[in-house]
Amino acid sequence: MSDEAAVNKTKAEWRASLPGDAFGVLFEEGTERPWTSALNTEKRAGTFICAACHQPLFESAAKYDSGTGWPSFFQPIPGALGTKRDWKMFLPRTEYHCTRCGGHQGHVFDDGPQPTGQRYCNNGVALTFVPEGEELPPLVD
Ligand SMILES: [Zn+2]
Repeated sequence: MSDEAAVNKTKAEWRASLPGDAFGVLFEEGTERPWTSALNTEKRAGTFICAACHQPLFESAAKYDSGTGWPSFFQPIPGALGTKRDWKMFLPRTEYHCTRCGGHQGHVFDDGPQPTGQRYCNNGVALTFVPEGEELPPLVD
């Protein structure tokens, strides 16, 4: 968990409040199998929020079909994500996480579309989609 995190639940508390697959991705930096998330094909207007603490992370306007099997975005909501280098796969990758709870979301690559050229490759299980017109759920403390 990062220092700037505004939510200070323990891992055990998150484990108790999240489904096992979401906990594994968010707080143990797991990666879901590609093509498993219903959010891959989500094309409605709306907001993608952190599945753990409900901070809004991406707007639907920034979502695109990357063909990778994971929900992909070219731009996050400003201030919503923090990054760190990750050496797990031998080649360095840039991990990103929710700034509010520290929950791991995915990795960002520089092969995305314009205007940013970035590809935020996100685990669907770490996100919750809220269609436009529906109220965002309250932030989790
Ligand atoms: Zn969060």
